[in-house]
Amino acid sequence: MFVAKRKDGSFFSLLDWKTREEVERLTKGEQFFCPACHRTLQLKHGQVKKVHFSHINDSCNASSESETTYHLEGKAKLYESLLHSHENPTLERYIPSTNQRADVYMEAENRKFAFEFQCSSISKSEFSKRTQLYESSHIKPIWILGIEKLGNIQAQMKFSPFQWQFLQRHTPRSPPYILSFCPKTSIFYYLYPSFSFNTSTTYISTVTSEVWIENSNLLTPPKASWKEHFLHYKKKWRYVYSLYKPHNYLRKYCYAKMNIPLSLFPAEIGLPVPSFYRIHTPVIEWQAWLYFDSIFHTPMHSIIHVPTVIQNFKRRIKYSQITIRELPLVKAGSYEDAIVEYLNALVSIGALKRETPVVYRKIKKELPSSSIEEACKQDRIVLEYLLHIIQS
Ligand SMILES: [Zn+2]
Repeated sequence: MFVAKRKDGSFFSLLDWKTREEVERLTKGEQFFCPACHRTLQLKHGQVKKVHFSHINDSCNASSESETTYHLEGKAKLYESLLHSHENPTLERYIPSTNQRADVYMEAENRKFAFEFQCSSISKSEFSKRTQLYESSHIKPIWILGIEKLGNIQAQMKFSPFQWQFLQRHTPRSPPYILSFCPKTSIFYYLYPSFSFNTSTTYISTVTSEVWIENSNLLTPPKASWKEHFLHYKKKWRYVYSLYKPHNYLRKYCYAKMNIPLSLFPAEIGLPVPSFYRIHTPVIEWQAWLYFDSIFHTPMHSIIHVPTVIQNFKRRIKYSQITIRELPLVKAGSYEDAIVEYLNALVSIGALKRETPVVYRKIKKELPSSSIEEACKQDRIVLEYLLHIIQS
């Protein structure tokens, strides 16, 4: 850490002094204490690390992270960056009501923000606990993932469950993003997931900024183009992945109950929906469960009741055939949004008709395919039609 308490109760920040000589002159013979736990701190002049304070036995109840060079460097750069663009950010502010030390704390337009620059993996429960503590004190936590933790930023990313936790958004209607920061270049990265095929392929649109922008609605992420890749993936799913062992249960269920091989699943399964990020299970799989459970056997012109669809879906969650993603920073809404969006996508392609928010009617029978080749042609027609409607 960079900020310590002096004997007289004032704070001393190492970042206020430029040279090591200055720091040495000013700190000579002084005792420093942790602003959170009040234990004695020692000043460390590492060869690699910046000059910093550390607890003698390395434990403090206000911080769970032992500080690496990267974290110290990142925190300092983040602070400097915020200092340029905003008024009054505070480095390492200890917040007594939550017993947490925010890497940077700031008040702007009557709102309070705690910046957490994270470059080591912390547990899901720790992440949620820290978030809730801030929120209970009416402080908005801004979780920033150190870019080192993401690797190369590319059009397609493989986000781990840890990284997905950082998904956040400005308002309940804003598109969500993962926020990252590079200490070397002092650049912020806003990574907007635009569509995930599965857990290892998520297409993203990236916006970079030299300053932190609270109102992300001001940013316009470019459109990601994943259509051809997705059609190729869907084709591969039919030819290859549908035979994989993890799909045994779905395959048997499909054959026994629908009387079709899984490779010939209707083209109506596997459609992009805006809230795709809510569900960890690959899009083809969760939509296959939903379609086979609630739509496939519905006779033409009969109704589909949304609460029943959701109930069937919940049963698949309960038996671990579908996994929901935990997103502590994405407030409002749930995976049920993705279900309704899927029903609405089926309306867009003319398979269903929406009568009320909870009642849909089946108006078109899914097209039977006699070969995978034919099914792939249907996949293209359906996806192009849907994307055309979304864009117009
Ligand atoms: Zn302490």
